[in-house]
Amino acid sequence: MIIDLRSDTVTKPTKGMLEAMWSAEVGDDVFSEDPSINKLEQKAADIFGMEAGLYCPSGTMTNQTAIKVLTQPQQEVICDVQAHIYKYEAGGMAFNSGVTPRLINGDRGRLSPQDIIDNINPENTHFAPTSLVALENTSNRGGGSYYSLKQISDIHQVVRNNCLKFHLDGARIFNALTETGDSPKDLGQLFDTISVCLSKGLGAPVGSVLLASKENIQKAKRIRKVFGGGMRQAGFMAAAGIYALDNNITRLKEDHKRAKQIEAALKQLSFVESIMPVDTNILIFRLIPSITNDEFLTKLAANNIKAAATAKQTIRFVTHLDFNDDMLTELIRVLKK
Ligand SMILES: *Cc1c(COP(=O)(O)O)cnc(C)c1O
Repeated sequence: MIIDLRSDTVTKPTKGMLEAMWSAEVGDDVFSEDPSINKLEQKAADIFGMEAGLYCPSGTMTNQTAIKVLTQPQQEVICDVQAHIYKYEAGGMAFNSGVTPRLINGDRGRLSPQDIIDNINPENTHFAPTSLVALENTSNRGGGSYYSLKQISDIHQVVRNNCLKFHLDGARIFNALTETGDSPKDLGQLFDTISVCLSKGLGAPVGSVLLASKENIQKAKRIRKVFGGGMRQAGFMAAAGIYALDNNITRLKEDHKRAKQIEAALKQLSFVESIMPVDTNILIFRLIPSITNDEFLTKLAANNIKAAATAKQTIRFVTHLDFNDDMLTELIRVLKK
């Protein structure tokens, strides 16, 4: 038994998902003729009460496409210093859109309305025009922290008062909604664009969907094309996404429960210096100075457990669809040993 806690991207399709993929109806999606992709895009859009969707091979592509749709070169994008769009997309916003990030030291990846107000550039030829605010929910580097609808609504006020655009990197949005109980439709009203990942907690092998107005999705389609993301009979993959939306959302609470159980175990261990609050399915904790990341990860690996180091003395575990109660028991046994 291998226990892989490096990320919630490591899941493999289940039998039910494979059957859905195997029997998918497909067509050429560049001609918008793939019934499975069309169905997935509309289904995801309907969940958030948005007009249209666009299926892309990765969350990086949905985020980068959204930034390209919502900005012009020379403008500035407000985001957290730890945001995926800045930290993990290979400099994409500068390369693809010619925009610069305005980086905020948020609260575990989360911005406040005041953060936005304080960082909008005044009208002055020296400054890049501020044009877009991008939130991440849940925040990956924030250890799975999430926003309530009220918090996002308050930021939305500032965004609209200043005629800015508003993007949500919702790679793990269903993890957030599982905890808040907020309605996805209420969230959908607030943003110009939302990126939703199907291959993280939801367990599909590939893909993210970008949600927006019909007009913005029309623009996004041309951008997806120039990024090389115009796919043909990708409905086999989209069918896995439909299956994921139908079957794998309500079970996310199990991942959160297991993360809490790991947290409880870590609190008892002498080699753990501190643990970031565990809000969803991500655990980030610090090791005491006498044990290095490499030593710790090597010991875990010797017991068939994989984890990731995210900074000096800092380890991350992510729970997911392929991490079950037997694995939880084994993990806790090994950690205690
Ligand atoms: C994983 C992730 C993405 C997208 O990643 P891809 O690997 O390109 O699909 C975007 N945002 C966040 C917060 C993520 O964790």
